[in-house]
Amino acid sequence: MIKKVLIANRGEIAVRILRACKDLGIQTVAIHSTADADAMHVRLADESVCVGPPQPRESYLNIPSVISAACVSGADAIHPGYGFLSENSTFSHMVEEHGLIFIGPKADHIAMMGDKIMAKKTFTRLGLPVVPGSDGTVSNITKALKMADEMGYPVLIKAAGGGGGRGMKIARSRSDFTEAYETARREAGIAFGNDRVYLEKYLAAPRHIEFQIIADKFGNCVHLGERDCSLQRRNQKVWEEALSTVLTPEFRNSFGRKIAAAVGKLGYFGVGTLEFLYENGELYFIEMNTRIQVEHPVTEVITGTDIVREQILAAGGDKLSISQDDVQFNGHAIECRINAENSDTFIPSAGTVVNYHCPGGPGVRVDSALYDGCKVPPYYDSLIAKLIVRANDRQQCLACLRRALGEYVIDGIDTLIPLHLKLTDHPDVIAGNFDIHFLERIYETVL
Ligand code: ADP
Repeated sequence: MIKKVLIANRGEIAVRILRACKDLGIQTVAIHSTADADAMHVRLADESVCVGPPQPRESYLNIPSVISAACVSGADAIHPGYGFLSENSTFSHMVEEHGLIFIGPKADHIAMMGDKIMAKKTFTRLGLPVVPGSDGTVSNITKALKMADEMGYPVLIKAAGGGGGRGMKIARSRSDFTEAYETARREAGIAFGNDRVYLEKYLAAPRHIEFQIIADKFGNCVHLGERDCSLQRRNQKVWEEALSTVLTPEFRNSFGRKIAAAVGKLGYFGVGTLEFLYENGELYFIEMNTRIQVEHPVTEVITGTDIVREQILAAGGDKLSISQDDVQFNGHAIECRINAENSDTFIPSAGTVVNYHCPGGPGVRVDSALYDGCKVPPYYDSLIAKLIVRANDRQQCLACLRRALGEYVIDGIDTLIPLHLKLTDHPDVIAGNFDIHFLERIYETVL
């Protein structure tokens, strides 16, 4: 039984985890950089420890500081949230070596899924369809070119250690290939410390569809349905929905069970998301995330499952409180990522929030760490709030979203609220008619 959790994160996800802990009667320890001394997650936690200066490398990513903070505060577990150290297998291993519980899967599973080539091989072996591409690393340009010719263009060159929408280069034709391949390797080496790349067929107009799974240490694994995260810019999601409008209940049920069985066979525990591209009625696996995801609330509000609570309980050794047959989907949900960015140029915006007014009313949930007068520092991810709405069907959900976005006031900095308002009125969004390139098409001039 976990009694005290150190939350190794900041912003809305630190507050989200803190709330789950409070509901469970678990004590909380916040960590923060000097830039975040007055942040909401620090104010709401039972205790807090300053772990370093503003730069993430010196604070939220500083493993010795984070582990020392857990030891001195007497925490018995660390929740990494998303981003920062959440998918760092060395960190999770060190946490366990210090006698603390890492609220996430085993280090081996984090490492396995952090290597996208290994992840694809693993799920191919377990019978899931993957995006067609090279069998493994392509470390030689002659072989790579031959393979690309055989696959047919366009081809995507992806970094084995890539993430966050980075580490991908597209070769639209044979003449593009050599330069794209060399650039991908060079950039991957610099960004991820690993220049292994692989090839994938570039799908022209897919949707991004991902399944949420949750598993305990007793071999129970359930899926909580899927999310459609096709509305993206620069391969990063800005709007997510549950469920998708393209899978039938029968397909969802059989495919979801197949996924849960495959993950169960690995002996995986904790939460996880298997990401797929959907084209011409087929789903193709691209990668698995081994942590809580930004968009988990849309699944929570349609299933009534508190995913973070289940995650904490499972890490402490409890059995899942739900079985597959208990999972019901109720209505439709949409999440808008409110980033501190200009809606036209996507340039990040830092500053002090004024006139803060949060929407409410039926169907509305806001996960954020904002308050009137709070600072949005320039050092961190631009996601500052998530607006999640749920209604009985998708059209009612869009109406609820328009209402809530209209009420939302965040002055003092730029946000993506104007973009989301435009999207709620766009005929293709209303019709659910979009793929992963939709936003690029409508924002061609600035993307
Ligand atoms: P990351 O780990 O950086 O998020 P992913 O492999 O999950 O990388 O891909 C991120 C996004 O890039 C996907 O949601 C999709 O929009 C696009 N993408 C990835 N692979 C392909 C592909 N083979 N064809 C077309 N688009 C792709």
